Amino acid sequence: PNDTPALPQRRRPHDIEHQRRGLLFVLSSPSGAGKSTIARMLLEADESIAMSVSATTRPMRPGEVEGRDYHFVDTAEFKRMVADGEFYEWAHVFDHRYGTPKTQVSTILDRGRDVLFDIDWQGAQQLFQQAGGDVVRVFILPPSVEELNRRLAARGTDSAEVVAGRMARAASEISHWDGYDYVLINDDVERCFAQVRLILRAERLKRSRQTGLIGFARGLMGGG
Ligand code: 5GP
Repeated sequence: PNDTPALPQRRRPHDIEHQRRGLLFVLSSPSGAGKSTIARMLLEADESIAMSVSATTRPMRPGEVEGRDYHFVDTAEFKRMVADGEFYEWAHVFDHRYGTPKTQVSTILDRGRDVLFDIDWQGAQQLFQQAGGDVVRVFILPPSVEELNRRLAARGTDSAEVVAGRMARAASEISHWDGYDYVLINDDVERCFAQVRLILRAERLKRSRQTGLIGFARGLMGGG
């Protein structure tokens, strides 16, 4: 009797299976467009993608967690990381510095997963310059200027000036929408999320990402 437990059979020897490189999936939007909700939904729904956690010099906000939302560092440490070439990309976003540590990206790719980035247009541009075809850039827009204003004012206690400042930032971010591969309008979060998943699914199937069709070659060569 064979007491070796049967291995779960994912594929038979001559089944065709895709092999592909991981992709770098960038979600950008002005704040108030609902990007963080979409990112959270995607991470929950799809275990083949993981978030790149950036380093930032901006102070931690209530509810944020070190290592989950960001790596919070001071300006001296950030500058040291820049000098030591530790960032894949980095940028000044308004008053603070933000950057993607190289180790974030390589660790996720080495585990065979795709990487999700919540970075601004400057980061999207730098990633694209370095990794070109592996980068997919998605821009999420709010449904209207009025709705954006409403969402940015929704925090209640802020003065009209603060809200106007946020609107000006949003306008400047939106002006870079042409640097993206896909542009979505978030008028309904479920619909927008479904579109993001469609894009990810289609991009994963792109021929240019396939590094091999395992079973096919094996079958033709007569191997096992
Ligand atoms: P917040 O301070 O609201 O978390 O983020 C402000 C902006 O910085 C957002 O648009 C966010 O996408 C962007 N951001 C966050 N991390 C990075 C990063 O590592 N690189 C770049 N270029 N932008 C980032």
